[in-house]
Amino acid sequence: MELIIEQNSFYYYILLSWIGLAIITFIYLLIFKPSTYGRHINNASISINNRSGWFIMELPTVVLMPYFYFINSTDCNPVILFFISLYIIHYLNRVFVFPFRLRTRGKKIPILIVFSAILFNICNTYLISYYFSQVTSLYDINWFYSPYFIIGFIVFSLGAVINHQSDTILISLRKHSTHGYKIPYGRLFKYISCPNHLGEIIEWIGFAILTCSLPCVAFAFWTMANLVPRAIQHHHWYKKKFTNYPQERKAILPYLI
Ligand code: NDP
Repeated sequence: MELIIEQNSFYYYILLSWIGLAIITFIYLLIFKPSTYGRHINNASISINNRSGWFIMELPTVVLMPYFYFINSTDCNPVILFFISLYIIHYLNRVFVFPFRLRTRGKKIPILIVFSAILFNICNTYLISYYFSQVTSLYDINWFYSPYFIIGFIVFSLGAVINHQSDTILISLRKHSTHGYKIPYGRLFKYISCPNHLGEIIEWIGFAILTCSLPCVAFAFWTMANLVPRAIQHHHWYKKKFTNYPQERKAILPYLI
């Protein structure tokens, strides 16, 4: 994959550091500090309403992506506007639809998670949108016919479908209640405990391919860094909680992890 970015620039080194931080975060989360929200919440932590937490922490993405782009560029390049739209569509769901589908009445989310997610979203959105604003001349209309775009878009869409379907299965497990956990079945749950997290990772890998850009590669790394340790933690939790949990099921990668 060709990475369209000026090497040796300040931005380039910031981005490499950002990827380095993702790798450190991944190792840290895997070994020392697992997720502390949802089923793994520490009730002693200072927290706010779960639904409001999701709404507040994801809101900066939809607002800041166009804002950061248009303060740095006035170019309405259709390819870049398409990239920005995909990003915003994903987050419109995460901000305005997903939190209101959750059946987590009375549930809290630690304020630390909300603040760290806001900080992450601001940095990540800035790095991606700043990049887009600086490379408008590099993406012409033919990009839509390039193998990068076609393959990346297919991967992105596949990830989005897996993520959405799996979240829907999980949410529907609480059709008759607002708390408690059941063993999820159907679709990719046959093979893994957390297909929603796998779908999210596939989505952002697809985005990195279709944009062919280093900040989007960084985002894909960050998504893995956050979600692979969480999926492994969920998987161990399921096996401990349910004695009849399907033995052949893996955490996040069918047959492997
Ligand atoms: P989870 O799978 O932990 O939970 C999703 C929802 O389903 C929660 O409301 C949860 O309730 C409920 N749920 C999960 N399992 C069960 C079960 N067995 N029985 C009943 N209810 C269940 O997902 P996350 O909260 O970690 O993430 C939500 C979405 O956000 C996912 O699509 C994920 O991919 C995405 N995400 C993306 C990140 C990124 O870096 N890009 C980071 C984090 C999340 P409860 O809260 O009570 O456990």
